[in-house]
Amino acid sequence: MPVFARAPLAFERGEGCWLITDDGERYLDFGSGVAVNALGHAHPHLVEAIRAQAEKLWHVSNLYQIPDGERLARRLTDASFADVVFFANSGAEAVEASVKVARKHFHAKGEGERFRIITFEGAFHGRTLATIAAGGQAKYIEGFGPKVDGFDQVPFGDLEALKAAIGPETAAILIEPVQGEGGVRVVPPAFLRALREICDERDLLLIFDEVQTGVGRTGTLFAHQHSGVEPDIMALAKGLGGGFPLGACLATREAASGMTAGVHGSTFGGNPLAMAVGNAVLDVVLAPGFIEHVAEMGLLLRQRLAAIVDAHPETVAEIRGEGLLTGIRCKAPNSEVSAVLRDEKLLTVAAGDNVVRLLPPLIVTADEIGEAVARIDRGLVALERKMIGARGDA
Ligand SMILES: *Cc1c(COP(=O)(O)O)cnc(C)c1O
Repeated sequence: MPVFARAPLAFERGEGCWLITDDGERYLDFGSGVAVNALGHAHPHLVEAIRAQAEKLWHVSNLYQIPDGERLARRLTDASFADVVFFANSGAEAVEASVKVARKHFHAKGEGERFRIITFEGAFHGRTLATIAAGGQAKYIEGFGPKVDGFDQVPFGDLEALKAAIGPETAAILIEPVQGEGGVRVVPPAFLRALREICDERDLLLIFDEVQTGVGRTGTLFAHQHSGVEPDIMALAKGLGGGFPLGACLATREAASGMTAGVHGSTFGGNPLAMAVGNAVLDVVLAPGFIEHVAEMGLLLRQRLAAIVDAHPETVAEIRGEGLLTGIRCKAPNSEVSAVLRDEKLLTVAAGDNVVRLLPPLIVTADEIGEAVARIDRGLVALERKMIGARGDA
């Protein structure tokens, strides 16, 4: 179905931060398949893990024990606030599971009337019927029948509106610690702390959607660790599988109190192939020094981009982000900026708020960052020439 506006470009293979076309042209990949290829392309450890698992066992269903899944769950809970994990196959499913965990928690406590969840303008939580309702964006909701009930949206960063939206039916607050699709909008740590306080006072569950921000992307294993605020429930996906479809819903034992045998499930979720890849991703991400490398590269990228803002005041406005989740807010249309960067063989991803996202693989080197920034500079010069030309024509 023609639901994607695809660029006229196809790739035959990848190596680290590079994507290579059929005719051997090399593109520097600062999109990572939308923050998915955390370890770049064809990472030897992931290739070996999936090859070895493929020869043994792909899928057995959740009718049986899956030891590698228990291991991956234990590694995720050891590294986080959580006690339990549910494995899914995508970000939307991980968020849906989070919503179900929160609703079932209150149902199990005999407070089934509490099912509503407060979300924030500019949010993105996925494309299933419930997650488009959670995200609240009209362009994704329109035409798909009655909007799933149970989501109340308040303006980004508006604590008073949030407090006013809490009612007797409210169960939880759902937020991305950094809005990704919404334009790399970082939620200030003080706001997350205020949310935690409100949730504690009002007996609400706090859900973080870390589908894009999790697994090292922002220079900490999870983005909420910048603030010291812990959620009750968290959705992960994207980087967790390094390119293999894998999502996870993490929760405290208390938050997941309603999740008993049979109340939720997934045929594919947590199968041995996915679990082998997830464990292999964590082998690399949890290795000493890896997360520090991400933080260091993120800092370098933002420093270098600051010079780009100074040099191109006509086309770019500011740099945003945390770690290697970086955004350039543009003055020129972001689609045009993305296109001139593609002409320079640098791949980026557009986002809301007229932002171009730079999401390199977490293994990116200082040299590759230098190369990307040089291409951005050249691309913007070309765009500015074009804009001046267009003005001359007019
Ligand atoms: C990408 C994304 C999702 C949806 O993930 P899918 O795998 O496309 O279903 C949900 N939440 C956030 C924050 C995302 O960035």
